Amino acid sequence: MTIICHDCQTGTPIADHLEDAELEECACPCGGETFTVGVGYAMNTANEVRWISLGLRCVADGTLGVYTDWKIDYAPTRHLLPT
Ligand SMILES: [Zn+2]
Repeated sequence: MTIICHDCQTGTPIADHLEDAELEECACPCGGETFTVGVGYAMNTANEVRWISLGLRCVADGTLGVYTDWKIDYAPTRHLLPT
């Protein structure tokens, strides 16, 4: 998955191993397609990533939503975390 900066158009990958994912563009119910982004990582007791959640806030109307999340079923997972 790639997040594209609205200002500079730079693409930033936020996860890999998405061979099985169905990637889609997303939009707010208001029609807005520009968002601020938050990525959440749920860790298990061994400090490995088990879930990644993508939260978006529409800049047009402020609507918050979790647009996708996915389960991580392998280890190690340190490479998934921001450096
Ligand atoms: Zn909106």
